[in-house]
Amino acid sequence: MAADPRRTPAQPKLSLDTPVTYLKGVGPARAQALAKLGVIFARDLLYHVPHRYEDASTVSRIADLEAGMDGTVIGKVVSKGVIPTRKGLRIFQAVVKDASGMLEVSWPGQPFLDRTINKGDVLLLAGTVRFFHGRQLQPREFVNLGPEEQGTGGGRVLSVYPATEGLSFRQIRALVESHLDLLLPQVRETLPPDILKLAGVPPLPEALRMVHRPTSIAEALEGRARLAFEELLCVHVLHRRANALARDKRDGIAFANRRQLTSALKAALPFELTGAQTRALREIVMDMTSDRRMHRLLQGDVGSGKTIVALFASLLAMENGWQAAVMAPTELLAEQHFRTFSRLLEPLGIRPVLVTGRLSARERREAAALMEQPAPLLVVGTHALVQEATQFARLGFVAIDEQHRFGVEQRKALGAKGHAPDVLLMSATPIPRSLALTLYGDLDVSILDEKPPGRQPITSAMRPESARERVLQFVESELQKGRQAYVVYPLIDESEKSDLKAATIAYAELAEGPFASRRVGLLHGRLPGDEKDAVMRAFRDGELDLLVATTVIEVGIDVGNATMMLIEHPERFGLSQLHQLRGRVGRGGEQSYCILLGDVGQEAAERLQTFVGTEDGFEIARADLRLRGMGDLFGERQSGEPTFRVADPLRDEELNLRAREAADRLLTRDPELTAPESQGLRNVLSTRYARALDLFRVG
Ligand code: ADP
Ligand code: MG
Repeated sequence: MAADPRRTPAQPKLSLDTPVTYLKGVGPARAQALAKLGVIFARDLLYHVPHRYEDASTVSRIADLEAGMDGTVIGKVVSKGVIPTRKGLRIFQAVVKDASGMLEVSWPGQPFLDRTINKGDVLLLAGTVRFFHGRQLQPREFVNLGPEEQGTGGGRVLSVYPATEGLSFRQIRALVESHLDLLLPQVRETLPPDILKLAGVPPLPEALRMVHRPTSIAEALEGRARLAFEELLCVHVLHRRANALARDKRDGIAFANRRQLTSALKAALPFELTGAQTRALREIVMDMTSDRRMHRLLQGDVGSGKTIVALFASLLAMENGWQAAVMAPTELLAEQHFRTFSRLLEPLGIRPVLVTGRLSARERREAAALMEQPAPLLVVGTHALVQEATQFARLGFVAIDEQHRFGVEQRKALGAKGHAPDVLLMSATPIPRSLALTLYGDLDVSILDEKPPGRQPITSAMRPESARERVLQFVESELQKGRQAYVVYPLIDESEKSDLKAATIAYAELAEGPFASRRVGLLHGRLPGDEKDAVMRAFRDGELDLLVATTVIEVGIDVGNATMMLIEHPERFGLSQLHQLRGRVGRGGEQSYCILLGDVGQEAAERLQTFVGTEDGFEIARADLRLRGMGDLFGERQSGEPTFRVADPLRDEELNLRAREAADRLLTRDPELTAPESQGLRNVLSTRYARALDLFRVG
């Protein structure tokens, strides 16, 4: 393009690749806000799809709302104002009205809304109705649809867009609305016709129209399914391709099952392996003794005993003359594994090597010297293991613990060391098989669905705020027995908008108040790494009685003497996260407790009841997925993984199966995606997944 579009006097030609800055109605501030939503080019605006729809079938009449009900209403603001309370809290209140009646709406602590919500504005409100001098709604969520005239447009479906600070849902909707007719005709179909037919979804331009401007909610969902299908298809295509390449490129090492070191360990173990451990090991031995390279995920609930399985596999490699490496996401965890391995291998006369960032220059040199010898060796470490300088002479087996804590690059980098070592990934986040397949492609999966015997069940309970004092006394009684306790908060800092007690404040309160005579430590995400480790070490070594922490303690730390897990604001955690936290106690022989403390709403209480009622991580994960969708299961995005904007591999299970089938069909007839009919998909892959095309030979 020759001319700068800004200088073109006539309407500039708008294309899908036009940066949004050049769109009518977008200035620098809005462009910045749009960028935060991932909208950089006009094309991205099309893919910024509504996360919710409202129409007559989802919105209640105000008159029909009753206290205790959860509902969505649309009403016009007839009066509003800020009310101070005795405690100094300022409440913004409005009265809204629809054809059937009026309703009081209240936003405690949000007086600033007075500036953005005006009389005559139409609001979409969702939340639970409570009884407070009559019916009152405290919105969980609301959308200002603007002055009446621009309201919902009389019975049409309302598309609600994800918004961000400085850019309201309404502004986004207006922006999409005013550019949709220009952009849609430029959208080209990306998939071959037979694939579309197999998927049973509408063509792309039609689907985009359906999601942005649906005539019914059913139509909106049909459009959404099309976008979801494409995302799922891309991921399957990438995984297929990655696996095909991995398989072509390298055969694995065929170890022999010599039963020397492994048998010696079995004889020396202070316990019997569980049935599940034996099963998983058998699967691993099959992989390792075949000439195909192992790529297996070992999945097992917290405390199911994954570490020892990795140790057996390491020994199998070592008794064949190879080196083995076990990588953990934190120094603490690496040290823990190192200690465990050292203890268990002592009778066998084997001394593992520890490699972390904490090594002195001399220790590092010593470790390096050992690793450069082509002799059997077990190395335990952090991501320091994947660093350039770390050289293995004969690496044959790699285990990656808490693998979801690592980026794809790090996982790949370790696997790339040595001679195509067999790889075992381990994860304590129990994920259903269908999801594992989607996230990791054709990874083989072993499951530890059984806990070692003799574990005492952990007593879990929910307690209201009014019981705080008694609960803290109970914690103290555990400390008196010489045990240790965790108190966990969902926050790391007092946030302006929140009235929740942050861990730092709570720490001061607990340390100076009820636990003044105890040694109390504080652990949160903003501490520098070595300070974090120092605090955790002190707790592990019994130098602290009570640890006030945020979720940073989640990762596999084993402190057998800790018997109490007290969780504040439990409603702010996902169930799987709570389960991980609970797994920090009950590791010794003592009775352990997990107490959820605080007043929570009815909905949250029901959700938390699922957690209190079972210790089965798989059951909890399923409930979590049903309730919250997949993003939250991990607590954070898996860095570097292709992620989904629209699709949800579990909820879209049927669609996901069709996407797998479609990926198979496509790659069978065009493995390199070079045919003209594959061009559309290639483009999608290259724009959406930047590194993806590395997997396909270019040019
Ligand atoms: P996770 O699967 O959460 O990583 P670990 O491997 O840390 O679990 O094991 C938890 C604890 O259970 C460790 O103390 C370990 O020694 C112990 N353990 C593992 N397997 C058995 C078994 N078969 N019998 C008894 N205890 C076991
Ligand atoms: Mg573990």
